[in-house]
Amino acid sequence: ALPNVQSERLFARGHGVFPDGTTRATIERDPTPRYVQRGEGAYLVDVDGQRFLDLNNNFTTLIHGHGYAPVMDAVARLLRDGTCFSNPTVHEIDLAELLIDRIPSVEQIRFVNTGTEAVMFAIKAARAFTGRPCIAKIEGAYHGSYDWAEAGQGGTPSTWGSPDAPVAVPAYAGTPGSVADEVVILRFNDTEGARRRIAAAADRLACILLDPMPSRGGLIPPNPDFVAAVIETARHYGILVVCDEVLNLRQSYRGASSRYGIEPDLIATGKIIGGGFPIGAIGGSRDVMSVFDGSTGRAKLAQGGTFSANPVSMVAGRVSMAAMTEAAFARLDVLGDRLRAALTAAIERRQAHYVVSGTASLFRIHPKQTLPRDYRDAYPSSDEAALMKAMTRFFRNEGVILPDGAAACLSTAMTDADIDKIANTFDRFLAAAPVLEKE
Ligand code: PMP
Repeated sequence: ALPNVQSERLFARGHGVFPDGTTRATIERDPTPRYVQRGEGAYLVDVDGQRFLDLNNNFTTLIHGHGYAPVMDAVARLLRDGTCFSNPTVHEIDLAELLIDRIPSVEQIRFVNTGTEAVMFAIKAARAFTGRPCIAKIEGAYHGSYDWAEAGQGGTPSTWGSPDAPVAVPAYAGTPGSVADEVVILRFNDTEGARRRIAAAADRLACILLDPMPSRGGLIPPNPDFVAAVIETARHYGILVVCDEVLNLRQSYRGASSRYGIEPDLIATGKIIGGGFPIGAIGGSRDVMSVFDGSTGRAKLAQGGTFSANPVSMVAGRVSMAAMTEAAFARLDVLGDRLRAALTAAIERRQAHYVVSGTASLFRIHPKQTLPRDYRDAYPSSDEAALMKAMTRFFRNEGVILPDGAAACLSTAMTDADIDKIANTFDRFLAAAPVLEKE
């Protein structure tokens, strides 16, 4: 294993001040996290001086990699004028116009600070618009930590209920029992199940919350008939469709819903649109977004936020997104296709029981023989979890940060040589780990 002395020292200090040693449950450890000194494009350097190709990119946020010069320069110039105000700035309009211009379903926008907050306000907007309390969502899909959005996510197979009637397991102890009554769980790509379960709760449903390609569901695209059934049933009963594109907006110039033919009433997004700074956004039709309009009295839904639309995130986001031209997205698609093909070729060459999913700049390697269909299917057995951990560890020892069981992603800072490095590392992992293979 690579030296980790300084990280171990910091982790010990961290344990003095943070439960569990760091301030995010999602930080990868095994057993010590690598503390970062600095990022350099596609790479980061840890406090022990080790250099890693970064396939995490802060959970898919950094579409240009680390320290992207145009964003750093624009932010450095901006900082001299101040970082946040109780007044609006031109920068919020600039970023909003860019996003509205690109994303077909978005006519108006509100900015918030995180993806969690964006999903929360999208759900609250759907409730305010329809006057109904409940939501439907996909089993296992991660949407941040608003209670309703996280019901039916996690748990263990014994808590999920039967495949025909998945249960809205409250995510954590003490969650009010009413949350489970207010969430209907659908299985991804289960067309008939979706029709049946939406119809059964239709008069109480404000929205269907849909991540077009849930990372925890295996990073599998939606089937066109599933998309059509969800949209058609929702429209029939006056239920809004809310797309969570916090992660998947990076799938194309016009986002993920448009890539998969979904026409949502609202989207929640975040991550790449902040250029590496905290951000979230809710966007949608003028009609639905009017719930935020308080100009003729009290808004149906008030949304503020001390740091919402702060100029730093707005400027960083605009500069970063402006550089994501259609050509830049096309290049990421090519890199992603090349990588997935090289990984698949390695699997075939080694006759290994692995499979690769993902599209555009996103990918996942599953220690499974066939592509998972949904969250239940993607959920790793203990043997598969051990293989994923071994793979992540192998990659890290070879200088590549590969997220363990989550979406891995490319950035515009990556080159063909980086793609080769990922594919070669995987090939060597397969060659080195035959004893871990499962029949
Ligand atoms: N929705 C999805 C699909 C996400 O991937 C995430 C973050 N991984 C969130 C919501 C929450 O975003 P944030 O971490 O910015 O609160």
